Amino acid sequence: MGMQGRSGCGNPSAHQTRRLAPVRFGWMLAVVVCLCSACACKTGGAGAQSGEAAFTCENGYDNFVVPGDDGYYLLCQNLISYWDGNLEHQASPICNRPHCAHDALDCPAVVYVGIANKMFYVDGSLYLFGMFPESDSVTGSNGYPLWKVAADGSTKEIAFSTKEMPCQYTIFQDVVYYEFRTEDEEGKNVCSVWKQPLSGGEEEKLWETQLQECGVHRLQSSGGVIYFEESGIDRKVDLKDPSLVFEELEVEENAYTYDAATGKLESVPLVDEKENKRIVMRNVYQGVQYYSYYQKEEEQPWKSGGELWAKELDEEGEAACLGSYMPYASTVDCAYIYAEWRTEDQKRIGLKVYDFAGDEIFEFLLDEDTWSEWIPANEQYVFGYLEKLVDKEQGQVVHSIVVLQRDKIADGTAQMIPLVTVEPN
Ligand SMILES: [Zn+2]
Repeated sequence: MGMQGRSGCGNPSAHQTRRLAPVRFGWMLAVVVCLCSACACKTGGAGAQSGEAAFTCENGYDNFVVPGDDGYYLLCQNLISYWDGNLEHQASPICNRPHCAHDALDCPAVVYVGIANKMFYVDGSLYLFGMFPESDSVTGSNGYPLWKVAADGSTKEIAFSTKEMPCQYTIFQDVVYYEFRTEDEEGKNVCSVWKQPLSGGEEEKLWETQLQECGVHRLQSSGGVIYFEESGIDRKVDLKDPSLVFEELEVEENAYTYDAATGKLESVPLVDEKENKRIVMRNVYQGVQYYSYYQKEEEQPWKSGGELWAKELDEEGEAACLGSYMPYASTVDCAYIYAEWRTEDQKRIGLKVYDFAGDEIFEFLLDEDTWSEWIPANEQYVFGYLEKLVDKEQGQVVHSIVVLQRDKIADGTAQMIPLVTVEPN
């Protein structure tokens, strides 16, 4: 499947309107945008560095499965596990301390992760940002730690700490790129992007927003560049003003790339927008942007389908429509489109898988009160992250990671095989 258009797709207009930011509806609607190139299934294989070439498709929010030298590291809730790739085996925490309950920070397999459900594997160690300020007796340090965890669970240390909590981050070639939000003297949110070597050292600011009420909602590496997007308002507004009509605010959205080799920061022309439609999701993978649209007035985009478009990041060329899919297409890999759908009563979510001919080849329904995100991995596996609300009053959630065999998707017999489950405390 190349970048050529498909019949049934209208051309996007060149009309350059402001566009609304994609919204993340809390943890209920995880807008998974984990997209491989539609042209080629590049697999980095064992030991590939995360963020580039690795078979996993890092997206702005998630990177919960990363390849190791012989198997897979899984980040489920706050627990790091290892799975050897054998479907007869479960994953197990990387901690090998006897009698450890793996439920506290002194366990090497436990890290309290932040907003980004991400982890990276570099030279035998796993790196991930922790969520809570570390000023406790375990570490004695202040700030938000980038944990360096030996993949064999033998050690856990802090590579460095940042003063603010990074919301989004990625790792590329031994450098971590991260974004956080601070307030200026007037109480305005200021987003900025920074970089720092994994080994610690000088923190360098790469970018700072010019918008009001800014949010950075994607930061990832792709094709040798660090890609990120911001949304915000280009004029000063008082969000507490009761006369403010929120729907009338024009939200500006911009995208940028930072070339890791040259240090050049560039603004990326965003894709053409179709009249009165708004982009619901995008991802950048192997230098290609992917996105869909839905009607601006539509409040529940997951109920309707949409066209899936692709455009190369570094070219002026036309965007191409990859097809039109009735349920909400959330994830794409080199052969399949993964779509989230809901039952008529909206109570249950399922997964439908299509091929690029537009034919539905596989579907299943999750339990009630369960949400999922999917990472199409290599030729063999697709991984799912499930969150099941088990106690509505207490808001208790069971987290699990499951795997699907890719060749069984093709013949319609794939089943979710659980690898790791983390019960609520
Ligand atoms: Zn442990």
